[in-house]
Amino acid sequence: MDIHEYQAKERFRSVGIPVPPGRVVSTPEEAEVAAEEYGGTVVIKAQVHSGGRGKAGGVKLAEHPKEARDYASEILGMDINGLPVDKVLITPAEDIDTEAYVGVLLDRKAQAATFMVSAEGGIDIEEVARTNPSAIRKLSVDPRYGMLPHQAYWLASFLYKDPNLVDQARKIIAQLYDAFVSSGAKLAEINPLITTPAGEMKAIDAKMSIDDSELFRRPDIAEMRDTSSEPPSETKAREAGLSYVKLDGEVGCCVNGAGLAMATMDLVKYYRGKPANFLDIGGSSNPDKVVAALEIITSDPNVKVILFNIFGGITRCDDVANGIIEAIEKIDIELPIVIRLTGTNEDRALEILEDAGLSAYTSMDEVVKKAVELAGTA
Ligand code: GDP
Ligand code: MN
Repeated sequence: MDIHEYQAKERFRSVGIPVPPGRVVSTPEEAEVAAEEYGGTVVIKAQVHSGGRGKAGGVKLAEHPKEARDYASEILGMDINGLPVDKVLITPAEDIDTEAYVGVLLDRKAQAATFMVSAEGGIDIEEVARTNPSAIRKLSVDPRYGMLPHQAYWLASFLYKDPNLVDQARKIIAQLYDAFVSSGAKLAEINPLITTPAGEMKAIDAKMSIDDSELFRRPDIAEMRDTSSEPPSETKAREAGLSYVKLDGEVGCCVNGAGLAMATMDLVKYYRGKPANFLDIGGSSNPDKVVAALEIITSDPNVKVILFNIFGGITRCDDVANGIIEAIEKIDIELPIVIRLTGTNEDRALEILEDAGLSAYTSMDEVVKKAVELAGTA
């Protein structure tokens, strides 16, 4: 789950990272009031779950409250990378001397939190990684010991020569690790970490993504979810209790069980098709879940065929077949649907489906081949 900059900044403040003050508003009038209260130049920042807001025109410096209001009204109507902006952060502008990048992410390969730092901050770190990888220093933190003082120092001294700045940076790096761990994050980023002409260091941007599996034990963070900022299909899937990940292929997959869902995607790829999604409808034959699943799949304009792959263990195939038919009756679907059911009561299930005019298979190989063929010709 992504959280907004202003929310990530709250987490950063709580561990002691120096972050400028800020206020979140949703109207130009409130922006003007906030700018007046701060006095001087303020920054108006779109709050959306997307990087590169600056480039997209979602970060503006305003010298007067009136200007703050104009920029706020401009930014509040914007759409940044497909995401509508309904909140802006107003924050006093800082004088910037240098901009660095400091980030930590859950690194599955290293089985640890891995830091990346670069003196070339402010811009896209992926770009730096591509064009100038030696400008990045990396370090994995052993979760058994946490961030050790010499590690924070080693990272900080890559960014700055001045001992005073190295000292500030090593503290911030250690604090960022605390924020990362205590929030159950999979990513925490400061870009840019700035120094001011007066030699102070501050995090003027903050980005955090929380591991969904950590949310159940962190209700205060779970509350930060902003459904207006996530794709509607993901909100719908979560609320229906489905595990769904959108991909960019044409074969819409509806499968019971995460392992079978993965295997189905593999087989689609094997036959040179492309899965449109990962979707695990779980172990139930509840028609409501199937309806939700079909609504989600059919709302993706790339989908050309719907592929069901159901293994009936405790779940009975005839229940699932009835669920599918009920679901198809409820929503109008023009796409071809192919269904594979096997396991408990499969004979009855196949009869039910064939009576309803649906293509039913028991072989996974055959059904996937058919689905890929239909996706290609549709
Ligand atoms: P992003 O584009 O979404 O990463 O948003 P950022 O918060 O990182 O802002 C983008 C850029 O705007 C920064 O790299 C700065 O160059 C500039 N910027 C943001 N806040 C300030 C500020 O307080 N003062 C100044 N002078 N520039 C700022
Ligand atoms: Mn940034």
